[in-house]
Amino acid sequence: MQSDQVEFVSIVIPVYNEAGCLEELISRVLAAMRPAGKKFELILIDDGSADGSREIIARAAEAEGEVVGCMLNRNYGQHAAITAGFSLVRGDLIVTLDADLQNPPEEIPRLVETAEAGYDVVGTVRQNRQDTLFRRTASKIVNFFARKATGVHMSDYGCMLRAYRRFVVDAMLQCNERSTFIPVLGNSFARRTCEIPVKHSERTVGESKYSLIKLINLQFNLLTCMTTAPLRMTTWFGLLAAFCGFLLSLYIVIRRFAFSDGDAWGNFGSFLLFAVLFIFMGIQMIGLGVIGEYIGRVYTDVRARPRYFIESVLGRDEPKA
Ligand code: UDP
Ligand code: MG
Repeated sequence: MQSDQVEFVSIVIPVYNEAGCLEELISRVLAAMRPAGKKFELILIDDGSADGSREIIARAAEAEGEVVGCMLNRNYGQHAAITAGFSLVRGDLIVTLDADLQNPPEEIPRLVETAEAGYDVVGTVRQNRQDTLFRRTASKIVNFFARKATGVHMSDYGCMLRAYRRFVVDAMLQCNERSTFIPVLGNSFARRTCEIPVKHSERTVGESKYSLIKLINLQFNLLTCMTTAPLRMTTWFGLLAAFCGFLLSLYIVIRRFAFSDGDAWGNFGSFLLFAVLFIFMGIQMIGLGVIGEYIGRVYTDVRARPRYFIESVLGRDEPKA
């Protein structure tokens, strides 16, 4: 048998207050996977929901043989929840997706097929993405930086519908850092990656679990989990700013001595100096802020608190293989 063949698929879905669509999600995943003729398990991680999602997961884990429920004791965030799910997987290919049905579960078998063609990570690109213009523009910028940071060309890092080979997931589990962005982390361990187009639907039930602040934090996670380039960039900015300031002062001195109106110019120019000062101050503040982001993350990593705490695992009696 070929080694790229996938025998067992683990589907990992983080759930945070998704009671409205959870039942449909479970039935659609089961309906999509059962005819595919592969062994599979559906791991639903409850990320501290308070709207009955927990009970739905518990019931499904009881009723359906393939469903495993993993209950976290509180809300730890999407990526921590996925990591908790990763710690339970038994398959040789792991597929992640969102619970809100924006990624159609019917695409999973196609991802599996693509992975079998010999890929370690299969990404997806959302076709005619059903999100607001603001979200789409923000994604474009983020994807650009993620591409630069990982050196892996993927056009849609934000789409969680992805397949990873087991060794990639095992490598991710060995990463101890707290602020992770799973798709970027996964790609850094993959040798062969590819992307396929998938459908994207509007969120029909519930609302996005990401506030603007949470989104900004996530983007910082993405940036800082992969690269220290922004720190270096601030150094370059600083150098450039200092150089410009030097040129400007040189110009002012020359103006003062070489031209008769030099004094007047210097006087009127004081506003210009203020403007320049503010620009440089701004650059310094940004630089400090970026350094602060890194130091904050270093601090949380040093404390090494657990990223999540699994309260209980339902629907699985034997220990992890
Ligand atoms: N999610 C989670 N914990 C959180 C926030 C979100 O487990 O703190 C899950 C959520 O239930 C969903 C997925 O992460 O399955 C993506 O969330 P959402 O659809 O709200 O994000 P968006 O599509 O707006 O990026
Ligand atoms: Mg969504």
